[in-house]
Amino acid sequence: MTAVPPPPTVGLSRAAILAWLRERDETQLAALWQAADETRRRYVGDEVHLRGLIEISNHCARQCAYCGLRAGNRSLERYRMTSAEVLECARRAQQLGYGTVVLQAGDDPGLARDWLADLVRSIKRETGLAVTLSLGERSVADMRAWRTAGADRYLLRFETSDRQLYQLIHPPLPGQSSDRLALLSALHELGYEIGSGIMVGLPGQTYASVATDIELFRRLDLDMIGIGPFIAHPATPLGDGTLPIEVPADQIPHDELTALKVVALARLACPEANIPATTALATIDNESGYELALQRGANVIMPDLTPLPYRLCYEIYPGKTALREAGADNGASLAQRLQRLGRRVGTGPGNRQRHTPSAGDA
Ligand code: SAH
Repeated sequence: MTAVPPPPTVGLSRAAILAWLRERDETQLAALWQAADETRRRYVGDEVHLRGLIEISNHCARQCAYCGLRAGNRSLERYRMTSAEVLECARRAQQLGYGTVVLQAGDDPGLARDWLADLVRSIKRETGLAVTLSLGERSVADMRAWRTAGADRYLLRFETSDRQLYQLIHPPLPGQSSDRLALLSALHELGYEIGSGIMVGLPGQTYASVATDIELFRRLDLDMIGIGPFIAHPATPLGDGTLPIEVPADQIPHDELTALKVVALARLACPEANIPATTALATIDNESGYELALQRGANVIMPDLTPLPYRLCYEIYPGKTALREAGADNGASLAQRLQRLGRRVGTGPGNRQRHTPSAGDA
């Protein structure tokens, strides 16, 4: 634990958050970008941690109105990687010098508890890499078994804090409820580092509700925060118009600038968090979204290591394939690009470093 001076106060009252979210003048915004970058540098330094993303299955039992993996999308060819294939990707991450692999999938009940626990154990034994899971909503018993097997972190975005909108776009499984905040709390109790986050610009999402999201990041004391713009997928109810949502007067836009503001505000709200420059950000801005995010609060990149035929089928939203190859298949150029930004590739697992005693330490 190291002492760090308090972050520059750009002011994070609710009124200030709202004002920043609405601000469109670049000369004004320069103060927000600078505060976020300075806070990032002081708290998490110049290292950019690389997490190798392995999209292990695109099967999904859910009907999320935003996501191309939803069960109702019959046009998608489905796959589930074998343990051997996943292990091969993990070895590749190790060769590339990454500190972490992220196993992500649709909400796939076909990923059995014991199978995944064995896989986590094999990855830990063979590579020693940190393992992050992003497998959607699973039972606490599953999450416990995977933690016991050695999994380090779990990503589960709450997507939006607007309860009504969440229920509309993220229907629960029949007879069940979907309480991602309760799951995040259970994950924290199990000793995982927890990550959450939102999509920015969902139809029906207001400036006020995103301000609440940012306040919630802080309240949850998140270790990781993922933020990306909503990108409409034509094979989903939000993309094909079958779930018409009335646009409210204060609808927040789903553009790059707004998503970057949320990244910057998330850094100020949670100075110690690991915040990735997400693929969705890069998707809408032909890669430079990555670099801008790194200069406005982000400190993590998740290059995609999923084998190509599978990667093409992991279509959460359209257009996400081209850009992701840069990091995964060309480590040197990624390192060079970071160097040009005055940054360097992170070493070690890249866990959250605590600078101030948490409530639990008192
Ligand atoms: N099944 C897992 C992993 C889902 S994909 C889960 O639900 O947690 C990871 C993230 O992609 C989601 O949490 C969501 O925030 C994001 N995502 C899904 N569809 C999207 C879209 N159309 N536009 C932008 N981001 C999207």
